[in-house]
Amino acid sequence: GELRELLLSKIADVPDYPKPGVMFKDITPLLADPAAFGALTDALAGLCEQHGADKVVGLEARGFILAAPVAVRAGLGFVPVRKAGKLPGTTLGQSYELEYGSAEIEMHADALSPGERVLVIDDVLATGGTADASLQLIRRAGAEVAGVAVLMELGFLAGRRRLEPGLKGAPLEAL
Ligand code: 5GP
Repeated sequence: GELRELLLSKIADVPDYPKPGVMFKDITPLLADPAAFGALTDALAGLCEQHGADKVVGLEARGFILAAPVAVRAGLGFVPVRKAGKLPGTTLGQSYELEYGSAEIEMHADALSPGERVLVIDDVLATGGTADASLQLIRRAGAEVAGVAVLMELGFLAGRRRLEPGLKGAPLEAL
């Protein structure tokens, strides 16, 4: 549709970043364009309403940039999921496998209330490891997953397949 074309026109392909052989999807042109950033924010806020979200979780770092204005637009609270060691309070941590090695993300243990419905927002779904770990954090906090929404899904990395068991029927929306 029209939104998809607008968003795609503002995402740049950067070859060999962050390492040789990787084609990086750069969203900074989109962020610099108020019409595109506004349309993206509106669309994501619409998904919050459509899926009955009570809170918005953003994944560090580009997920923060998208999720924060969405939370304000939707009238919901924003909760950061950060790389390990960045949050000052008591945290829940979740590690996950990367192609080589592993990574860990954290969320404040009291950031979500039992039964709250949470929409997870990030810019890019690649292998799905980060988003999958965030779903585990949300469930361990006693909250419910309303869905995962990303600007872009890199289909060839099969993140949707990796995420599927953890979604337990909740939607994965890629704009
Ligand atoms: P995954 O855990 O799904 O493999 O990786 C997703 C994370 O890596 C996201 O937080 C996303 O920001 C980042 N990422 C991976 N590839 C790209 C890319 O090509 N462009 C951007 N903007 N982020 C990427």
